[in-house]
Amino acid sequence: AAAQRRSVVVNAGTGKFIVGGNWKCNGTAESVKSLVKELNSGKIDADVDVYVAPPFVFIPRVQKELNNKNYAVAAQNCWVSAGGAFTGEVSADMLADADIPWVILGHSERRALCGETNEFVGEKTKYALSKGLKVALCIGETLEQREAGTTLDICRAQLKAVNDVVTAADWENIVIAYEPVWAIGTGKVATPDQAQEVHAGIRKWCADNISPAIASKIRIQYGGSVNAGNCDELAQKEDIDGFLVGGASLIGEAFVTICNSAKHSK
Ligand code: PEP
Repeated sequence: AAAQRRSVVVNAGTGKFIVGGNWKCNGTAESVKSLVKELNSGKIDADVDVYVAPPFVFIPRVQKELNNKNYAVAAQNCWVSAGGAFTGEVSADMLADADIPWVILGHSERRALCGETNEFVGEKTKYALSKGLKVALCIGETLEQREAGTTLDICRAQLKAVNDVVTAADWENIVIAYEPVWAIGTGKVATPDQAQEVHAGIRKWCADNISPAIASKIRIQYGGSVNAGNCDELAQKEDIDGFLVGGASLIGEAFVTICNSAKHSK
């Protein structure tokens, strides 16, 4: 059945499969050391892009010790503009200067817990891109919004706030992470059909509002309780171009399995 599916599934996105690991606010020097060791010993397919996002304090250690060239390092957040009197913040300039190529922006935890609005995330994205960073832009609806039937409206509004301030060319350095809030950290994964439906809606929005060329190239990751057991089935969906992984990215072996899920599908 898997072989059959492989032969009929066409990947709507033309970009390379991409998987991110969001370690969130987790870890100790000791646990990071052993996770990096596990990642170094894992074998990742050549045609997959991977980034891992440790907490800021561990980034130098991860940059130094992660010697598996498949992995790029990401920050989980950055400030909205240049540095200065912004206690507790880290600027995109600092990330670029520290050779950190990726930043995750607009994660639902930051939107919900730190009050980040669509417009603020748009400004952050614009500024990070202007410093040469690549952005994993997180969007997604809450359970209430899904039940009200507004899932795509919410995603479109989140995308529009970015599109209002960036150029079409900027989208070449953005990966969209569709993460339904109700699926994050809950063990409640979206069904492959639920995810596919929203991913296709997002791609259509990109075609209509950015350009058809960008829409076909842009990578749309699914995030929300992805694990080593459910990744293959999700990866087979034509508009799912990768994953953003929280909990399972803290388990080296599981994360490597998820990174390699593309080869079981498209
Ligand atoms: C996330 O935080 O981006 C995420 C998808 O978390 P989890 O995989 O734990 O649901």
